[in-house]
Amino acid sequence: MSSAPVGIFGGTFDPIHHGHLRLAQEALEQCRLREVRFIPSGTPPHRVAPLAAPAHRLEMVRQAIQGQTGFVLDEREAGRTDPCYSVDTLSALRAELGQDTPLCLLIGSDAFLQLHTWHQWQRLFELAHIVVMQRPGKPVGNAMAQADTGLLAQYQARLAPAPTLLHEAASGAIVVLDMLLLDISATDIRSRCAQKKSLRYLLPDSVNQYIQVNQLYTTC
Ligand code: ATP
Repeated sequence: MSSAPVGIFGGTFDPIHHGHLRLAQEALEQCRLREVRFIPSGTPPHRVAPLAAPAHRLEMVRQAIQGQTGFVLDEREAGRTDPCYSVDTLSALRAELGQDTPLCLLIGSDAFLQLHTWHQWQRLFELAHIVVMQRPGKPVGNAMAQADTGLLAQYQARLAPAPTLLHEAASGAIVVLDMLLLDISATDIRSRCAQKKSLRYLLPDSVNQYIQVNQLYTTC
């Protein structure tokens, strides 16, 4: 492979928090990625609409990653009002970055266990590797016993023992990596915010300030 892998990290980021940032940092280091692209979604197909407008969620990600080497904001999904499917975003990135650049879709283990519900999910493996960041006490391997049988088959066929393999092919492997447990969720942050509780130490100060100034999440 001619170039280092690029990490792709999509989410609603409603708002972005230290759990997201830690996932990206650990993937960057453990997989020796060239960069991690944060891609805030516009209208996600799998869930109710985010509370904050795309422009606010973009700005919060921009502020959260400002000055962080290797972290890049990708605005392509946020402006869209039609459903944004990962398979379409990855196809566009593949066309832009070329056939030889390894792409690594970064996801938490909770999201990975629902992968079979994603639009054209089997095509994801033609376009990218899947890097699953597993949290302590919740090994993906154990959870796979209860997983969808199609997903289990892909997992067994594609599981790679080490992240070095991500540098040797452009797509197609599943790599599971350990990450520190930061039991933070955007749902909990929105709820605390609506109750006028402090958000300190859950997300970057700049994002906290942005939320207060723009009076986001006053209801949840
Ligand atoms: P919500 O609470 O609104 O569902 P969230 O905090 O789970 O949001 P998302 O934007 O839905 O955030 O998540 C994007 C990705 O980040 C998913 O792959 C998810 O598994 C992962 N993720 C979210 N929170 C954490 C965390 N605390 N640690 C590790 N990964 C996380």
